[in-house]
Amino acid sequence: MGMRVIVAGAGGRMGRMLVRAVHESESSTLVGAVERRQSIVLGLDAGDLAGIGDLGVKITADAETLPEADVYIDFTAPEATLDHAAFAAQRRLRMVIGTTGFSDQQLERLRQTLSPVPALMAANYSVGVNLALGLIREAATVLGSDYDAEIIEAHHRHKVDAPSGTALAMGKAVAAGRKANLNDTAVFTRAGNTGERRVGDIGFAVIRGGDIVGEHTAMFAGLGERLEIRHVATDRMTFARGAMRAAAWLMDKPAGYYGMRDVLGLG
Ligand code: NAD
Repeated sequence: MGMRVIVAGAGGRMGRMLVRAVHESESSTLVGAVERRQSIVLGLDAGDLAGIGDLGVKITADAETLPEADVYIDFTAPEATLDHAAFAAQRRLRMVIGTTGFSDQQLERLRQTLSPVPALMAANYSVGVNLALGLIREAATVLGSDYDAEIIEAHHRHKVDAPSGTALAMGKAVAAGRKANLNDTAVFTRAGNTGERRVGDIGFAVIRGGDIVGEHTAMFAGLGERLEIRHVATDRMTFARGAMRAAAWLMDKPAGYYGMRDVLGLG
């Protein structure tokens, strides 16, 4: 049976990918699938919904009925993830979180709630993005504020938070490389008479449309040259496989709050 996994948000775009990723991994088994109370997919088989056939796991909204498990993987919405974190901590389950769009206060509550268990959170579970974050930080250190940093991201029309968690992580990487604070330097909107660009600003631009899976560019624009570090996700399975890799990595870790950089050994 190997690693026993519960997937929350099992009816969602990422949830269905996660159900597939658990199934394709030989060392793990799906034992539970969770959805919100009003969802029309309650009672359906999680495998059927994910397009891989009956797995014998009915989607439920009733956490108390979930069997014993090793890991709870959650790609849902901020308030839902906070509820699920309380459940995971109470049941002493490891937790892997993919949800984005938390406020700073929610992030703090999440950390506190999960302090008794090994937990891992990443705004993006792809290997390429996590490597890009390190490259962006290094570029920001070398180039300094003489090179204007702009983060451009594009996602599908159903995404509900902006800028994406990954774009914010990229902005934080720029700020860290410059020894600055993102909250003091981020510029999220420009319209009307904005005046000239301030030295040190980190600008964000957001595109929403169609079925774009996720595209991010960190641009460093200097005088006479421009460096762009760009990542394009073409298939959501890349996030699901990354989350499974994170879950397997957590299995022998003590309680603590980890990130994808720990999993990938990026320091
Ligand atoms: P989605 O809307 O397709 O899926 C979310 C699912 O969660 C829905 O089916 C919804 O019904 C369910 N849900 C809501 N409240 C719930 C509750 N209380 N209990 C159980 N289920 C509940 O969205 P998505 O595209 O799958 O994205 C989900 C989240 O994951 C978003 O925050 C998104 O930004 C994030 N995301 C993260 C990564 C990453 O690599 N970290 C990648 C893609 C998406």
